[in-house]
Amino acid sequence: MMPQHPEMAEHAMGPASERFPLTPSVSIPVEDAGAYDVIVVGGGLSGVCAAVAAARTGARTLLGEALPFVGGNGTTGLPISGLCARNSDRMIVGGIVTEIIEMLRKRGGVGADVKHMDWIPVDAEQLQLVLGDLLHTAGVTLLTYSPLLAVTREQSLIRDLCFYNKDGRALRYRAGAFVDSSGDAQLARLAGLTTPMGRQSDGHTQTMSLVFSVAGVDEARAERNSVVSEAWNQFQASRTTRNKRRDPSVNDVFGRPGWRSFIATRVSVRKGTDNRLLAEAELEGRRQIEEFIDSFLRPVAGYENCFLAQIASHVGVRETRRISGLYEITTADLVAGRKFDDAIACNASSIEIHLPDQGLPHWEHLEDGDYYTVPYRALVAREVDNLFTSGRCISATHEALAALRVLSPAMATGQAAGTAAALSALRGVAANRLDVAELRATLRAAGAVVE
Ligand SMILES: Cc1cc2nc3c(=O)[nH]c(=O)nc-3n(C[C@H](O)[C@H](O)[C@H](O)COP(=O)(O)OP(=O)(O)OC[C@H]3O[C@@H](n4cnc5c(N)ncnc54)[C@H](O)[C@@H]3O)c2cc1C
Repeated sequence: MMPQHPEMAEHAMGPASERFPLTPSVSIPVEDAGAYDVIVVGGGLSGVCAAVAAARTGARTLLGEALPFVGGNGTTGLPISGLCARNSDRMIVGGIVTEIIEMLRKRGGVGADVKHMDWIPVDAEQLQLVLGDLLHTAGVTLLTYSPLLAVTREQSLIRDLCFYNKDGRALRYRAGAFVDSSGDAQLARLAGLTTPMGRQSDGHTQTMSLVFSVAGVDEARAERNSVVSEAWNQFQASRTTRNKRRDPSVNDVFGRPGWRSFIATRVSVRKGTDNRLLAEAELEGRRQIEEFIDSFLRPVAGYENCFLAQIASHVGVRETRRISGLYEITTADLVAGRKFDDAIACNASSIEIHLPDQGLPHWEHLEDGDYYTVPYRALVAREVDNLFTSGRCISATHEALAALRVLSPAMATGQAAGTAAALSALRGVAANRLDVAELRATLRAAGAVVE
């Protein structure tokens, strides 16, 4: 037998003698991998902002992400929406969000004047470079390729968590405070906390969409994007399509002439947290893309020679679980433009529900020029003392989440949750006893707009 290289032998055997029980009869080796002040789970845009904010507040911070890259849904090239009060140019989001946009602007990676636009096209590849820089400069330890596997809770405290490591073992990390930025409330779920999902009547969630782009569009002859969208509605009226989505979103792709990006598929599955259903959703999304391009798009003027250029790395999930927080934001809070005493972020997005049972989304708008705030209590898990959340799993009803899930509030709540987690861990104070005035002052000093 070949002698093993000492390094390989160490990795093969590992220092771990303890085993992590997955079931009463199945266990894997566990390795103590370190201790941090704050651990953020999920490296979407919201988790990146949380980790950067925590590190800048002075906390030793780890960001764990299941995928090889950070940015989450933001890496599919979606425009960032919701920076201004509704139909106005009053900026209601600042801090790390505007920093990211400014960093993109310097690289030529953003396609609009932020001050006058509610809808900011960004270059998704440049965005990944910017996020990497931001994390590195803030001193965040980044652990990609690492799905969260298990969480240890002792009464009202989360003590540690394990990420699955490819070599077949669990990496265990301890921390004083945790931020669940997984979009799916994975950390809360694995800690055994209450995690509501979907609408109250039947638990159904919003539909998913697999985002894709085509290239080879003849810019001189191409129909306007809104005309293409309406033509799809007419096409659907004249024949049966497997894709039931109406009013698809057709957008230019920033910096890529001849490209168009489509949010045009509509995939309805019972539960966006079941890998078996997600696997089906990915296949169904691809079937719908093929149908859309081959049967509908190619005959459209200017699209005759177009071809499929890019499919998003994963199906876009609008909604799954959320945490049960100290406060649950409701539709009434949003449409009334409510300003909370413990506000930590603002947003003005309309409620846009992609209904499980209809092809057209349901909309509810705010008054023009108005906006609402997000209370700190909606970021704090009710059942434990050291879990914060951000992005699309904050505490809100199914309907309210349909407005709060978009990118700018996801990032703004990320900054707030990361800052709060750092203050809580560094001061040794439970989340529900944190000095909210100090939190708001810290956020303001960091450029965030809190009310
Ligand atoms: C089709 C579609 C179109 C949209 N269009 C727009 C738009 O035009 N404008 C806009 O502003 N918003 C839009 N949104 C909303 C927006 O993209 C998301 O809601 C937003 O990205 C939420 O950010 P997040 O960081 O909370 O979650 P995500 O971006 O989902 O990030 C969560 C991260 O957590 C990681 N993760 C999950 N589970 C684990 C685990 N167990 N272990 C480790 N990591 C884990 C995931 O891999 C992911 O990277 C759209 C959403 C969809 C689905």
